[in-house]
Amino acid sequence: MARALTAHSHSHREDMLSVEEARERVLAFVRVLEPEEKSLLDALDQVLAEDVVSPINIPLWANSGMDGYAVRHLDVAGASLQRPRVLRVIGTVAAGDVPHVRVEPGTAVRIMTGAPLPEAADTVVPFEETDELERKEAGNGLEQIAVRSADQKGACVRPAGEDVREGEQVLAKGAVLSPAALGVAASIGRSTLKVVRRPVVAVLSTGDELQPPGEALAPGKIYDVNSFSVAASVLRAGGIPKLLGIARDTLPGMHAKVDQGLQADLLLTSAGVSKGDYDLVKDVLAQRGQVEFWSVRMRPAKPLAFGLLRSPSGAMVPHVGLPGNPVSAMVAFEQIVRPALLKMQGRTRWERPVIDATLEDDLHNHDGRRVYARVLVTKRDGRFYARLTGAQGSNVLTPLSRANGLAICPEDVAVLPAGERAKVQMVNWPEEVDL
Ligand code: AMP
Ligand code: MG
Repeated sequence: MARALTAHSHSHREDMLSVEEARERVLAFVRVLEPEEKSLLDALDQVLAEDVVSPINIPLWANSGMDGYAVRHLDVAGASLQRPRVLRVIGTVAAGDVPHVRVEPGTAVRIMTGAPLPEAADTVVPFEETDELERKEAGNGLEQIAVRSADQKGACVRPAGEDVREGEQVLAKGAVLSPAALGVAASIGRSTLKVVRRPVVAVLSTGDELQPPGEALAPGKIYDVNSFSVAASVLRAGGIPKLLGIARDTLPGMHAKVDQGLQADLLLTSAGVSKGDYDLVKDVLAQRGQVEFWSVRMRPAKPLAFGLLRSPSGAMVPHVGLPGNPVSAMVAFEQIVRPALLKMQGRTRWERPVIDATLEDDLHNHDGRRVYARVLVTKRDGRFYARLTGAQGSNVLTPLSRANGLAICPEDVAVLPAGERAKVQMVNWPEEVDL
């Protein structure tokens, strides 16, 4: 059974924000961005900022649903193999043509799929229900055609307005534009749509120890991880990352980078936010606006900074200071920043799918924080199982790269043993789950 934490483990809980409180505080300061006109393909996955009403019927005019003969139903009613109805063929109409003939009694027009139905025709008889093939094989012309069976009136005809009526709303404001929705927009003649703009997100790594990948490491240095993992997460969340690189722990270095960052819709920094840390990040940010340093009741990613910084143009730009350890930075992004980016894009849902999975390893909680354990969820015999993907230190990144979910050990539970069910937030669903 799950064991509850003892009371003294809760000693610091009062100073801490829950994950939900931290998320709500950030969300309260981010606004839905303004709309912009985008060409259809560039609008994929963005939120529609207008109701879209069709100026036309779709189809615009009745047309053929098959290759065949456009006829008057009265002329072919009761036709059979034994009693075919022979009609005079007075023309052909292909898709893209305009029919110039009227189907008088006793006549038919050869018609292709998608071609407009000629005047006075009400039914299409497919080639297979005529003697067209035999006539061709015998080398005969198609001046006449025998109809050998007849469906109901209107068969194989796509009526005008079958899909969309002129004046009908086809897409609603707030919809997330799928490939099919873009197709609908094209079908009514739209080449652009008004959508909520994507946020530009400045990503800044801080620390004297950091060096960009691609060159040999100098003594005492490590490669900058967060620029890439965080910027990639921004892309996945629909944002436009702007890599600012690495800020050295010097005042002028930091100020220059922060200036660039404040041209964005959101500034994300990493590192320098822990308690008792004298990194310059804190001082520089505090000089630029209001910044709060929080302890969030989660593991990893306890320390977090949130601020509103004044840009050179006077605008207040939200800033989230992620923790430096790479796993912490990504988990804090997932819980706090991703919802904010989705809100900026006009989305109203940002929860990941949460499933119940049977644990294959124990989950441990030492100090009353919610644990997000890196797990790989698999499905066997219709049930989900979650296994730790490796060491759970916030500095150990490769297990996160093998995980598809974050298994939760709640704040007030000290151990969730193997065999118990746990909630798992699926961060890579459904792409990386075998169902
Ligand atoms: P700090 O918050 O500055 O104390 O950083 C916490 C830990 O995260 C330290 O071990 C840092 O070296 C490490 N760290 C900070 N930023 C990065 C980064 N961009 N890439 C990789 N590790 C980092
Ligand atoms: Mg540091």
